[in-house]
Amino acid sequence: RRGALERYRDVPCTTVDGHSLKLMANVGNLNDIARLPQSGADGIGLFRTEFMLMDAVAMPDEKEQFNLYCEALQLLAGQCLTIRTLDVGADKEFSCINPQSAEENPALGVRGLRYTLHHKDVLHTQLRAVLRAAAFGNVRLMFPMVSQPEELDELFTEIEICRQQLLLEQKAFAEPEYGIVVETPAAVINLKAMLPRLSFISIGTNDLAQYTLAADRGNPQLTASYPAFCPAVLQLISQTLHTAKAVGVTTSLCGELASDPCIAPLLMGMGFDELSANAAAIAEIKAAICQGRFSDFKQLADNALQCQRISELETLLSGCQI
Ligand code: PEP
Ligand code: MG
Repeated sequence: RRGALERYRDVPCTTVDGHSLKLMANVGNLNDIARLPQSGADGIGLFRTEFMLMDAVAMPDEKEQFNLYCEALQLLAGQCLTIRTLDVGADKEFSCINPQSAEENPALGVRGLRYTLHHKDVLHTQLRAVLRAAAFGNVRLMFPMVSQPEELDELFTEIEICRQQLLLEQKAFAEPEYGIVVETPAAVINLKAMLPRLSFISIGTNDLAQYTLAADRGNPQLTASYPAFCPAVLQLISQTLHTAKAVGVTTSLCGELASDPCIAPLLMGMGFDELSANAAAIAEIKAAICQGRFSDFKQLADNALQCQRISELETLLSGCQI
């Protein structure tokens, strides 16, 4: 079986009837990136940079971050690196970050981009490091937990400040492509107003499901009855795709849904340009896509969007051979 999967490692992720998908990897550190060539991924669709803070006593400074991103780019040899700015707060707590424990509802609190907009020093350090690293490779920069255009207005003012600083300091830098993680229902609804600033979006179904279903993603009492693969989330995914495609913005999905080899072909059938999955799942996803037909994936997606119950979706997937 392993041999059968390896057959697809170095070929493009293309269906029998000639439709291609960029199949990228979610990674959390440099070791993951170093192992990437073995997985057959087309680059990195999500680099969770908060891993830097795991054992850190202090926030890594600009030079440390710049070196880290440059090392990642070197390992990637021209492939795309999608860096997500620090996604802290909620369940992602780190000792070098001011404790947010005063919050009564941390999942609804100062997390993701909200945190970095509240801590401009942290934001500037990371923005400057990424802009400088972008001069040395194929970099995209993505922001977590964005829900309103006002947040992007504020963010892009800060980006401009960093650009002006780097120009003045005569430091080499380049403009990365900018994107957001669509992971709140408000982001789906407000997307049109935010797209003019973006060249890509990536749907974070882990949080999108949590916030749509009002069900804590880490609560084992809820996960079985409130899965991300449910009609409500699928409708939001579909709406997001339509909105983004209407203006030619690249569409990706980086939540756990994409790591399920039975669901990834269905997502491709919905029309995503890219999917980003756990490195360990890539071989199986690629095999499923390369052996299937896009016309069948599209039919599967159309059928899934007609489903009104989780059980109907489960029945739809029961034909999956993997
Ligand atoms: C998501 O929310 O789906 C996602 C990809 O990000 P994380 O799991 O890191 O919150
Ligand atoms: Mg998320």
